[in-house]
Amino acid sequence: MTTPLSNSLHIADISTTLHPYTDARKHEKQGPIVIDRGEGIHVYDSNGKKYIEALSGLWSVAVGFNEQRLCDAAMAQMQKLPYYHTFAHKSHEPSIRLAEKLVEMTPEHLTRVFYTSSGSEANDTVVKMVWFYNNALGRPEKKKFLAREKAYHGITVASGSLTGLPYNHKHFDLPAIPVVHLTCPHFYRFGQDGETEAEFTQRLLAEAEETILREGPETIAAFIGEPVMGAGGVMVPPEGYWPGIEALCRKYDILLVSDEVINGFGRLGTTFGCEKMGFKPDILVTSKQLTSSYMPLAAIVFSEAVYDVIADNTHAIGTFGHGYTATGHPVATAVGLENLKIIEERDLIGNAARLSGPFQEGLRKYADHPLVGEVRGTGLIAALEMVADKETKRPFDPVGKLGGKAFEIGHEEGLICRNLGDTLALCPPLIITEDDAAEIVRIMGVILDRTLEFAKSEGMV
Ligand code: PMP
Repeated sequence: MTTPLSNSLHIADISTTLHPYTDARKHEKQGPIVIDRGEGIHVYDSNGKKYIEALSGLWSVAVGFNEQRLCDAAMAQMQKLPYYHTFAHKSHEPSIRLAEKLVEMTPEHLTRVFYTSSGSEANDTVVKMVWFYNNALGRPEKKKFLAREKAYHGITVASGSLTGLPYNHKHFDLPAIPVVHLTCPHFYRFGQDGETEAEFTQRLLAEAEETILREGPETIAAFIGEPVMGAGGVMVPPEGYWPGIEALCRKYDILLVSDEVINGFGRLGTTFGCEKMGFKPDILVTSKQLTSSYMPLAAIVFSEAVYDVIADNTHAIGTFGHGYTATGHPVATAVGLENLKIIEERDLIGNAARLSGPFQEGLRKYADHPLVGEVRGTGLIAALEMVADKETKRPFDPVGKLGGKAFEIGHEEGLICRNLGDTLALCPPLIITEDDAAEIVRIMGVILDRTLEFAKSEGMV
């Protein structure tokens, strides 16, 4: 049933807008689900239907959907100084205070901050910083990036090149920068027959080293990775993988970039993913939970050593000619600072660590479900991968049909998750309670059962 309001919005939407990651012709037929308001972990659509937002929007709304303190922080800053830039020696208090906070919260050796408005722009900036750094050091041939298949680092020309997903490359003529994609560190999918997880890790590390030697260490500038991979399907790397990658980076003088756009600020139950995975990046990229996505903002936090090279050499090769109109935007940084204070005051990182057990264990019980090949995740991020054959891990054909159906059933059942092919991803707000976690787990069971009925009716199982 649609209300007159939702009806007029539907018509206006389908006649005006090209939506990201949306089948345009299908959208014209079915119209949008117009999300109207939020409250805690819930959002409501324009028909008044209530959903648990079990993906926190796009992996980002840590503090829930109606945090008054963030509205107040935005309003106060809007009234005082709604906009100013940070080019050419200008600055303002919110960007300075947030930078201080970021330096305090990130691992000790990360001391410098550069702001952008999105994760994609942040990773584009990382590419340019790393190139500038190597130009400044007089080694212009050291420019290639190592990334991983199934990584998600954004969609701009450079960050989209680092991303390792075919549909972000195909038809967009990417990659457009020098990047080599290594095997995704996901044992369930990419482990070989008879291989143990430890052997898999060693094979991936050997592959990384062989790639560095084949390409020439003098040509490899940086390795970029998400500590736990998110949008590619929520993949937790095996133990020893990250320390091994870090050792290779040190051995061959390669900068190590931790893309914490999803992992950062408590998602894994630690402040940052690199802490949980046991490595020290030279550059750490944050966004999403930085402002709970109430304002668009990203921050790159990096070492004094990288900063020094850039700072010392601007006279030799020119000023760091890079920055955005909105770099350090006062309203966005004011909201970010307040959001991080809330995360700390309410111990939301501790909450994620405490609820990780019930949430992950609750979901693990679906490993026995006829559709489920693997349940994976850590902290408050998880995924259930549906497969046609549990024994051989054979995917369904076509991939995505059941995932799309499960996503739709989720909406009917009042739960928003995300389907990545036939993998169902969950990433609830950090404010969830134990009861919320149990409710998400319960609804996932209903979604799986109803999806199984559908699969049977379609002759897919
Ligand atoms: N890096 C990671 C790890 C991400 O998950 C994302 C977004 N999902 C990005 C970068 C890109 O961020 P944005 O969509 O803000 O450009």
